Amino acid sequence: MSKQTKDYSQYFDFSDAKVISEDETGKKIRIRGREIHIMSEPNQREEKKRGKQEVQVMYENAVPEELRQIGVGKHYLVYTFGCQMNEHDSETIKGMLEQMGYQATESRDEADIILLNTCAIRENAEDRVFGELGHLKTLKLERPGLLLGVCGCMAQEEGVVNRIMQKHNFVDMIFGTHNIHRLPHLVQGALFSKEMVVEVWSKEGDIVENLPKKRQGMRGWVNIMYGCDKFCTYCIVPYTRGKERSRLPEDVIAEVRELARQGFKEITLLGQNVNAYGKDLEGMNYTLGDLMEDISKIDIPRVRFTTSHPRDFDDRLIEVLAKGGNLVEHIHLPVQSGSTEVLKKMSRKYTRERYLELADKIYTSIPNAVLTTDIIVGFPGETDEQFEETLSLVRQVGFDSAYTFIYSPREGTPAASMEDNVPMEVKKQRLQRLNDTIKQYGRISSEKFLGQVVEVLVEGASKNNDHVLAGRTRTNKLVHFEGSADLIGEFVHVQITDSKSFYIKGELVAEPAVIG
Ligand code: SAM
Ligand code: SF4
Repeated sequence: MSKQTKDYSQYFDFSDAKVISEDETGKKIRIRGREIHIMSEPNQREEKKRGKQEVQVMYENAVPEELRQIGVGKHYLVYTFGCQMNEHDSETIKGMLEQMGYQATESRDEADIILLNTCAIRENAEDRVFGELGHLKTLKLERPGLLLGVCGCMAQEEGVVNRIMQKHNFVDMIFGTHNIHRLPHLVQGALFSKEMVVEVWSKEGDIVENLPKKRQGMRGWVNIMYGCDKFCTYCIVPYTRGKERSRLPEDVIAEVRELARQGFKEITLLGQNVNAYGKDLEGMNYTLGDLMEDISKIDIPRVRFTTSHPRDFDDRLIEVLAKGGNLVEHIHLPVQSGSTEVLKKMSRKYTRERYLELADKIYTSIPNAVLTTDIIVGFPGETDEQFEETLSLVRQVGFDSAYTFIYSPREGTPAASMEDNVPMEVKKQRLQRLNDTIKQYGRISSEKFLGQVVEVLVEGASKNNDHVLAGRTRTNKLVHFEGSADLIGEFVHVQITDSKSFYIKGELVAEPAVIG
């Protein structure tokens, strides 16, 4: 077992807990004076199972009439950690809270309910959440009426839930990724019973449609599927997000149409492995390519999708993307490693050669295609030569940018028990070299824009300078230029005058007859 894995086993000892009652609503226990109602808890063995049961699609009214006043006059604050999937789940959580009468606030002192929507992908993400809980404890002691909840991927981990019950028992609610729609009932339970309420479903049940969502800005996320069945050996997601299940095409298309009607300028279709879309839809022969083709006919200016898995990326999708239109030519295609041996140990189910062939096919078929990626360095046993293969693949593909990570052992995953003889110092050096290489290719890609006029969707002011606006090209390149704040949310044309590694700079121009 790697030395870096957090030892959660100490939290599996409940000898000082007293069982108060046990019935069909769950178990009530008392630990150090705190009563906890455990309606259901996570179980990693269950989360690992993949059953054949049919997925039900439920068209739910998640906030019943009698709960629509519960938050009137009160405020909520949701902190989101992790990926776009979590950001989007937070939009649903906020949507439900607002239907319950709560109003948004940025101030902890004003908030009556604070939720931490958590990420479990790497250890440092978990450390940040426990750090935040430490700060919130002081607030809770000052204001016992404040409701504190922990949800998201960490809540799906047995060790984390046990740790919260034992060491952070000022928390009022814990719920997982499969029962977000139960939030109104859990808030009601925690408010009225004053117990800590724990409800985490280990088995992903159904797809719940019609949940309210609080979207902001002009870019919207749309889930097309949930879960992941790939079980890459380093990854916790298949356990925390459950089995792959696709939303029905008509439900996705109706949601995109509604966003178009509301004036959204860009949508991103979301899933852990979007290329598996449709494979679980019984009696249908309908894939991501088909969905993209149908969505390309909707009047929404830009359509993206993430995240792709190289193994399932098929020719049909390439053929549809090659038609362009509102389907942008940016593909995020995580490679993870450039070494076939490491990829095998990661159980990625493709080789270096297969990835390179796919990248080649994409560049040949889709005009101006841009690829970005995710890479892990320091996987257990990764040799210097294997790392060099990653660098050489980065050079060969010429990624525009990449998310790069040092491998982080996740309890219960196969890689966490693989022998790891790579010292942390070496892993850090590899990460640095990898980032330098990616930066170099980012700069080359930026330089290609010099003198060109690009179409930019303006997102807001630049982080460092209020007078400078920031937006993105179709290929997701960040663009800075001077302009009035009225342009936020609009498409503009910018002539590129300067290039940096991770962004390009330019000046506003009128729309040209031909875009570069
Ligand atoms: N489903 C996507 C895929 O297969 O590429 C991405 C899922 S994950 C949220 C995003 C990225 O986190 C992965 O692509 C991987 O590079 C990284 N990641 C996942 N588990 C990790 C771990 N245990 N240590 C370090 N990085 C990890
Ligand atoms: Fe994790 Fe692999 Fe699934 Fe991506 S495809 S979520 S990396 S198991």
